[in-house]
Amino acid sequence: MSGAARDVQLRRALIEACRDLQRLGLTQGTSGNVSIRRDADSFFVSPTGLAYDSLEREDIPLMRLDGRWYGRRRPSSEWRFHRDILAARPEAGAIVHAHPRHATALACTGRGIAAFHYMVAVAGGTDIRCAPYHTFGTQALSDAALAALEDRRACLLAHHGIIALGADVTAALSLAAHVEDLAAQYATALAIGGVAVLDAAEMARVVEKFRTYGHQDAEDVDLQHAGESPPAL
Ligand code: 13P
Ligand code: ZN
Repeated sequence: MSGAARDVQLRRALIEACRDLQRLGLTQGTSGNVSIRRDADSFFVSPTGLAYDSLEREDIPLMRLDGRWYGRRRPSSEWRFHRDILAARPEAGAIVHAHPRHATALACTGRGIAAFHYMVAVAGGTDIRCAPYHTFGTQALSDAALAALEDRRACLLAHHGIIALGADVTAALSLAAHVEDLAAQYATALAIGGVAVLDAAEMARVVEKFRTYGHQDAEDVDLQHAGESPPAL
């Protein structure tokens, strides 16, 4: 595929991801933003303050890690954390930021998501941290987000929302949806009261199992593959 054709594909994927954020109920209006890595030193990022429904490919700016940008629309006000995360995390191919209801409500209490459920390991560790509050679009917010994302693929932002990264934009969106779901479960459990947290040894086991979860060759000594077709009755 030519570079130009790939750029078209990446811009399309970015617009679709912005629309998915709304379709999945993960964000309202022009809240949230998405970036997709293009190459070693540049990325596409959603434009600031433009309704996702009306986005056209030409509205998606290209940014370089040095802060220069190209296009007819100004990049997201959160370009700093998109830039800094893509620079610091070579495994990330895309970043999603959103203001989903439950995760944002939890983040407004300054709380992250503890190991109340084994699925918190979906973000890569034993909890999902909450970065302290800083004004949107600032370098201070970017620095705090990067710290909260250490050894993790997602974090909450106090009084603001969430960030999720993935190898590609589908993975980043899926993780954002998981974080919101976990936050809703956690908030409900907190409201019921008496939430117990899984211990570090169990969470270490779960994090390890997640490395091969869903893989066809995931280890399970008691599971024997006896062929593709079951024997005739
Ligand atoms: P942008 O429209 O500039 O991307 O800002 C939305 C947002 O969520 C800021 O944190
Ligand atoms: Zn935001």
